[in-house]
Amino acid sequence: MNIHEFQAKQILGRFGAPVPKGQPAATPEEAAAAFKALGQPRAVVKAQIHAGGRGKAGGVKLLSSADEAREFAAKLLGKPLVTHQTGPQGRVVRRVYVEEASNVARELYLGLLVDRKAQAVSVIASTEGGMDIEEVAAKTPEKIITETIDPLLGISGFLGRKVAFGLGLKDKQVNQFVGLLASLYRAFLETDASLIEINPLVVTADGRVVCLDAKMSFDDNGLFRHPDIRELRDANEEDPAETEAAKYDLSYIHLDGNIGCMVNGAGLAMATMDIVKYYGAEPANFLDVGGGANAEKVSAAFRILLSDPRVKAVLINIFGGIMRCDVLAEGVVKAAREVNLSVPLVVRMEGTNVEQGKQILKDSGIKVIAAADMADAARRVVEAIS
Ligand code: GDP
Ligand code: MN
Repeated sequence: MNIHEFQAKQILGRFGAPVPKGQPAATPEEAAAAFKALGQPRAVVKAQIHAGGRGKAGGVKLLSSADEAREFAAKLLGKPLVTHQTGPQGRVVRRVYVEEASNVARELYLGLLVDRKAQAVSVIASTEGGMDIEEVAAKTPEKIITETIDPLLGISGFLGRKVAFGLGLKDKQVNQFVGLLASLYRAFLETDASLIEINPLVVTADGRVVCLDAKMSFDDNGLFRHPDIRELRDANEEDPAETEAAKYDLSYIHLDGNIGCMVNGAGLAMATMDIVKYYGAEPANFLDVGGGANAEKVSAAFRILLSDPRVKAVLINIFGGIMRCDVLAEGVVKAAREVNLSVPLVVRMEGTNVEQGKQILKDSGIKVIAAADMADAARRVVEAIS
């Protein structure tokens, strides 16, 4: 799960990381008031969307009066902002962040992430801040500093100084940086984060090290331990189908193909996607309805699949272990009637109560292409769209 920049800064600030003072605003009036509340000659107004590249796209501006803040907020709010990370449709700006301006001398990059290969959290740093870090890594890999954090030692003074020197920090900035890195690491562990990215981390003209931008992502599986963070989920920023699926406790991931797949069990779902690809088509999604799904869950899953206009055919591949095939069939029939099914539907099922299940489908009058086995199902669904 991702959160907005201002929320990440609030969390990091609580852990002692140096972040500029600021206030979110949902209306132009609130933006003007936030400017006044800062009580400084200048402030930065930043569009809050779950995407980077806002600076280049005109979503970040340095302003010197409350009127300017109001005007700029009015320009951003309620409209989509298109950045290189949003796709051509952009993302609607629903809030801006009004923040005290920093006098920037240098822009650096700092990130913390779960490094699966190292089985630990790693620090990524670079002197090339404010830019697309993927591009830096591709073109000038020597400018990327990577250090793995020993989970038993945490951020030692040694490790912190090593990264600080790599970033060309001097004098007081070195200790400040070590403290900052330790704060980020503590925030990372205590919130079950999967990513913290500060791009740019800046050195100000008066020599302070400050987090000028902040991105945080969290491990969904850890969110139950952090109800306060879970509250920060912004449904507007997420795929509506994925949000709907989460409500029914379905594992759903949107993909780019046109075969909607409904499967029970993650392993079978992966195998189904593989076999669809093997026969020459692309799955539109990964969807695991789970082992003990009831008819309601099945019909929700079916509705979600068909809400994707790119889905040209549906493949249901179910092994009835705990789940019974008759329950599945009831759910499918219910949903197919509700949505007025208009694309070919291929069903392969096997296992508990399979005969009853097949009978229910047959009696329903819904046009179902019955498949004998997985390969047959994949072949038939590919055939159905060609
Ligand atoms: P992003 O483009 O979405 O990653 O948004 P950022 O928060 O990184 O802002 C983009 C750029 O705006 C930064 O790289 C800075 O160059 C600039 N910027 C943001 N805040 C300030 C500020 O307070 N002072 C100055 N001088 N520049 C800023
Ligand atoms: Mn940035």
